[in-house]
Formats: sequence, structure tokens, C-alpha cells
Amino acid sequence: MTESEIVYKNLAEQSFVGVYISQDGKFQYANPRMAEIFGYGLEDFIKKLGPEDVVHPADWPEIKERSKKRLIGEIEKDYYCFRGIKKDHSVIYLEVYGSVIVFQGRRAVTGVVNDITAKMIAEEALQRELKRRNDFINIAAHELRTPLQPVYAYLDLMLTDPEIYGLNDQGKKTVTQLKWSIDHEVALVNRILELSILKIEKEKITPLLREFSPKRLVDLVLRSHRMRSDAEIEIAIPDDVTITSDVDYIYGILAELCSNAVLYSNPVRKITIGYKEEKDSIGIFVQDNGIGIPPEEIKNIFRPFYIVDAPSPSRKYGRMGLGLTLAKERAELLGGGIEARSEVGQGSIFIVKLPKKYHKAGTP
Ligand code: ADP
Repeated sequence: MTESEIVYKNLAEQSFVGVYISQDGKFQYANPRMAEIFGYGLEDFIKKLGPEDVVHPADWPEIKERSKKRLIGEIEKDYYCFRGIKKDHSVIYLEVYGSVIVFQGRRAVTGVVNDITAKMIAEEALQRELKRRNDFINIAAHELRTPLQPVYAYLDLMLTDPEIYGLNDQGKKTVTQLKWSIDHEVALVNRILELSILKIEKEKITPLLREFSPKRLVDLVLRSHRMRSDAEIEIAIPDDVTITSDVDYIYGILAELCSNAVLYSNPVRKITIGYKEEKDSIGIFVQDNGIGIPPEEIKNIFRPFYIVDAPSPSRKYGRMGLGLTLAKERAELLGGGIEARSEVGQGSIFIVKLPKKYHKAGTP
């Protein structure tokens, strides 16, 4: 044995990960940990068993193919995960960093094997828990909304024909208020539902991309929420700028940012909505001259149900601290994000950053 072979052997023998050399369908070498991972003693493992004996039959065709590619030199190095079968027939999860060496004058596949069963079990438990939570939220949202529908329809009927229902002006006011409360409740349930879907199933959602004018979209947001009457608003976006993204999600993001800009400002409210282009990204910003956010709170405002002045009696009614969380989740779904800068008493700026070209997270 050469000196380097001795060093390699010593290292492998003491390793916490499995090490193997396989040739002609059998393990020609394995360290003690490798045999232990599969529940064998070394004497029953080396030269007696081969990869096919310890790889789950469903994963074997792929592993065989990958090993072959290494043997014929199509690839030199490889990383993969697979299921293994232990001596007691239980299933384990493994990861392998594989390569090739020359062993007894011929090419042989070799690899380092790590048992990731505990990690996989924890991951599966987490996925099950997330699904359970999501199912619960879906059912709860449905159950919360359904009973309100007939009540809402009935109140609507009362307002359409107030005389038939004997409603005087005070009665009409009360019914209108009741309708508002239901609207508010439904909007809240819808937000919680959307947030839970975005948090848990974001990767399953594919945005609907199309080209549109951000200036016209901002105009639509302001008109539909009748914001122009509450503030002096300037749209500093050139007419000819277009972007390609999901218009519904951008509408939702801008509606949250613009309504905050109006709400958290004192008269005379001045808001600018602008557009900035960088090398790979575009930014739509909403700037206000409002109350501002203390520096230590900036990191918190994107957390669900976080309200900066929550304990204060002057807190605006009906706010739930979900708007920015939702806006951020939507921006992330579109491959971007939201940045916030603010100075107390001076105002805030929220910048929605989007990639010039949408790119689904996790894809090459
Ligand atoms: P909310 O429904 O309470 O407005 P958001 O998630 O939209 O929820 O905002 C979270 C908190 O961040 C708000 O309660 C408010 O304290 C603060 N905030 C958001 N936008 C602004 C802004 N433009 N100016 C000052 N404070 C803001």
C-alpha cells in the first residue's frame, strides 16, 4: 500500500459518513460506517453485497444509470438522494457524493454516503403539519364566510326596499353599518385565506404575465379606492412605460401601499407614485409625507398582524397588520420584493422591486 492509500484508508475507517468503492456489482471496499448505515457487519458487506442489494428497487434503475455514466466517463462527479433498504428491511434515506477512481487497474465508482433519514422524517412531518394547517384555514375561511352570505343578501334587500321593511333614516343608517361590518369581516377572512395560500403554496402558483402600463394601473387603483379626494397625489410614471408581470397581484400590492400612504399621513397629505428602472429590475415606489416609522420598527412591519402603534388608543380602526405582509408575499411570488425607508415625522417610501423578466423561484 502506498503512503497516500494508507492515509485514505485511515481517514475512511474513522469517518462518520459511509465510504465505498464498487466494481463488478459488489462493494470492493466499504468503511465500517457504510456497513453500519445498512445494519450490517463489515464481514457481511464487503464483496458479499453490491449496490443493487441495498438500494430501494424503485430507485435502483436511476442509480444504476448514474453509476454507469460515471464508469464510462460521461460524468466525473455526481450528487443524488435515494432510498436504501436495511438488513431488517426498513427504508432509509441517503445522500451520495459520488465520483470515480481507478481501483485494481480499472475504473470503479466510489462515493461518500450520508444517512439523512432523520432529516427527511422531520421534513415530511413539517409538510404534513403545513398541509393540516392549510386545510384547517381553508375550512375555517369557508365556514366563516358562508353564514354571512344570507345575512348580507337580506340586509341588501332591506336597503333596496326600505319602505317594505319599515326602515326610517336611522334604520337605513344602521343597516348600512351592518353591511359595512360584514364587508370588513369578509375582507379579513379573504386576506387570511390569501396569506395562508401564499405562505404555504407559493411555489404552486404561476403568475399570469402580461404587458401593461403601470401608470394606468396606478390610476385605476386610485380611482377604485377613491383616494384622490383624500390626498394630493402625483403619478410620476411616464405614459409610455410598460411592464410585464401579473397585473392582479401588482394591483393588490399598490392598493395596500397607496391606502397606507393615505392612512398614515396627516393633512395636507402628499403622495408620489413613481417608477425607476435599473439594470435587471424595475421599481414602483409609493412615497408619502406621513407620520413615518421608527427605525427599529421597519423590520417588523412586514410581519403578519404587526401594527406599529398597536397599544395606542389613537390607533386607526379596522387595521389588522396584514396589508404589508400580503403585499410582500405577492411581490415575492412575482420574483421581487418590497423595500421600505422611513423617517419619523417626515414620511415613508415603499419600493416594489420586480425583475425585468419574471423568473419562477427555484427554476434555472
Ligand atoms: P395595517 O392594516 O395595520 O395598515 P399593514 O401591514 O399595511 O397593516 O402595515 C403594518 C403597520 O406598518 C401599520 O399598522 C403601520 O403602523 C405601519 N405602516 C404601514 N405603512 C405605513 C406608512 N406609509 N406610514 C407609516 N406607517 C406605516
